[in-house]
Parts: sequence; C-alpha cells; structure tokens
Amino acid sequence: MIFMKLYCDFHIHSKYSRATSEALDLDGIAQAARNKGISIVGTGDFTHPLWFKELKEKLKPAEEGLYEYKGMRFILTVEVSTVFRRENSIKKVHHVLHAPSIETAAQINETLSKYGNLDADGRPVLNVDPAELVEKIMSIDKNILIYPAHNWTPFYGCMGSENMFNSLEECYLEQEKNIHALETGLSSDPKMNWRLSILDKYSLLSSSDAHSAQNIGREMTVFELEEPSYKAINEAIMKKDNRKLSLTVEYYPEEGKYHYDGHRNCNVSMSPEEAKKYGNKCPVCGKPLVIGVLHRVLELADRPDGFMPENASRFTYAVPLIEVLSYITNKGRGTQYVKSLYSSLLKRFGSEINVLLNEDIEAIKEVDKTLAEAIENIRTSKVNLIPGYDGVFGIVDMLNRIKKPTNSIKQKRISDFENGK
Ligand SMILES: [Zn+2]
Ligand SMILES: [Zn+2]
Repeated sequence: MIFMKLYCDFHIHSKYSRATSEALDLDGIAQAARNKGISIVGTGDFTHPLWFKELKEKLKPAEEGLYEYKGMRFILTVEVSTVFRRENSIKKVHHVLHAPSIETAAQINETLSKYGNLDADGRPVLNVDPAELVEKIMSIDKNILIYPAHNWTPFYGCMGSENMFNSLEECYLEQEKNIHALETGLSSDPKMNWRLSILDKYSLLSSSDAHSAQNIGREMTVFELEEPSYKAINEAIMKKDNRKLSLTVEYYPEEGKYHYDGHRNCNVSMSPEEAKKYGNKCPVCGKPLVIGVLHRVLELADRPDGFMPENASRFTYAVPLIEVLSYITNKGRGTQYVKSLYSSLLKRFGSEINVLLNEDIEAIKEVDKTLAEAIENIRTSKVNLIPGYDGVFGIVDMLNRIKKPTNSIKQKRISDFENGK
C-alpha cells in the first residue's frame, strides 16, 4: 500500500483576526503554504461572516471534507477564545475546532453566535464554559474535532500559569471524553509533554498559529495516509494512530516566547529553579513573574526528563528558513538580500520543507556551505539556545556564535543580537 506524506498546518489566522497581516487572504495563504511545502492548510477564522462568505464562494470541494483553491488543499478550522468563570476566577482558554464540511461549519457558526459577536474578530470571544461549548458542538456533529490551542501558554493556554488547570479534565469537566488531542504550542515540544502520564492518551498536534503569511508552517503535523480526507485525518488523531500521525515539526521550545519565566519590561529571564529562589517574584520590580511553559510542565511532571512513553509519536525540530538565512547573513528578515536568497533556494529545492528537513546536506553544501552547516546543526540539535520569556522570542544560535550568558538574569534581546552587539 502506498502512503502519502501530508504536511498539515491546521491553526492559522486570516486577515479578519486582530493583529494579522492584510496578505492573509486565500491567495496569500495558498502561496505561503505552497512555498513551505504544505499539503493541507487550515482556513482559520471560519466563524467570521466575511471570511466564511469568501470561503463558500472560492473553495471548491476536493477529497472528502477537504477543499481546494489554486491547487492548495484547505481544511475548515477556527480558533475560539472562551471566557468563563470557575469558582471565583475568570478563565480564558483558546480552543481549535476542525469542521468536516462547509454545511457543518455553518451550523457551528449559528450555535456559536449565541455566545459572542462573531463579526468582531476572526478568533471570536465566546462567553461560555468549555464543557458547554464541547457539548453543544458535539451535538451538531460527532466528527467535529475540538482541542485546546497552545495548551501551556500563560494567558490563554488551558494548563498555562494564568488558568492553572492541572489537567484537561479540570477544564472540560465531563466533556473531556470528547477531547482527543492538544496543541503543544511553540514553547513546548512532545518531549516535555511526555513527562506527564495524564497526557499519554492525547494526540500531540503542532500548527503555526500564524498571524502573518511568512509564519505559516513554522510548526506542522505530518500524516501518512493512503489518501487525504477529513475523515482519515480525524481518525488518526482520535485514535492516536502514530503510524498515520507520523511526525510533528517543532520549534525548539526555547525559541517560543513563553518558555522561561520572566519580565519583558525589566529585561529579566530565568529558569523555573531560579524563579523559585526569588519566590516567583521579579528581582527588579518585585511583581509576580510571568510564569512560563517549562515551569508549569515541571510543576505537573510525574516522570523524569528524557522519559519516552510507548506510543509516542516522532518529532523533529526546524527553524523557519527566512530566519536561518537572516542569521547566517547577519541581514534582516525583510531585506531584499534575504528574500532573494530564499526564492533562489525554493527554485532549486522546491519548498522550504525540502531544505529544512528532506534534502541531503551535501546538496545544500553545493549551494552554500554555511547554510548547510546551520541546517545540519538544527537537524541534529547542535545549536545554542537562549530561552524566550514573557512574550520575547528565544534565540536559536545555529552556528554557536553567542557565548552563553554567565548571568542568566540579564540576557541579550533579539534586537541587540540583530544589531550585532
Ligand atoms: Zn490562541
Ligand atoms: Zn519586573
């Protein structure tokens, strides 16, 4: 039997979400996904009336539950934000939904419009308890998929430090029975999630959560299926079938902007161990630190570092190609120089994924030795990592140019690095 490798990015946003790029229309998304080497991309934002109208007009039915636009396959997805009260505190949790058809998406939109204004944002705010949300959604169609977005991030992640749910059961209550997956987010990787035995039953998914075209595909989930369809993807996720859900493509979690604890404005970043020494308070301003993803994982871990459960899916690290080129040339990501290097590599190797993951290092060496060295270091984890914190992205030092900071509280900001300081 022949299996196709399908690179999927389910969670993205359109131009109708707040703080997103105007270029995120169907043409822009299809083009960016094609450059990346993506097979199936989420529509994002299908609850937004104007975006949904555009999707209905322009997407053509392709394989079961999938749609086509200019050669790219689309799957109907949306991220929603639930705001609700539990005991005496307000919780804010983001969830991703997959819909099996335009018709079902229309029914979802009708149901969700009772809980919030769907016009206001491509990622709508819904005043509803997640348990009620899941129950209502499942009563529309059992084939809808819903799972927590970026499960560990401090402000909107289910198990993050602001919401403080210690399991998905605590958040979804009896409706947890309908939750089969979680999104690990940029600041955590499968290895970190494996340290919690309570998470063994969930499929670990990765998507970009892109708010701009160039971020599409920065994380991905790869399926190996006989043929692409909504049903086949959904089944692989729900059954946690790791022959079919074969790989996730991950950021180094340290690069994510909530990996460590810290204060952006105080230029303070530290490991969970150090944060504990300071009573989780900022040594500069004295206010509570923004507690990152690693801290929460360590708090709840019941297994040692390096533990690998049975039925663990494979994953690999990647750094977006534009970022690699910017790093090796010491030129900004938006510069013409970096952009033209990027296009010439796409021309030669077909897609970004080929350069980052699939192409033989020798073939890349023929084009650029330094690039080949950086890619090899990324593939084999021989990179120096400076963790992100409180909204500041971490740094992947691909050629180990930066000396490790001796004082980890004061760390270089990305801007210092880019200015060559
Ligand atoms: Zn979100
Ligand atoms: Zn502070």
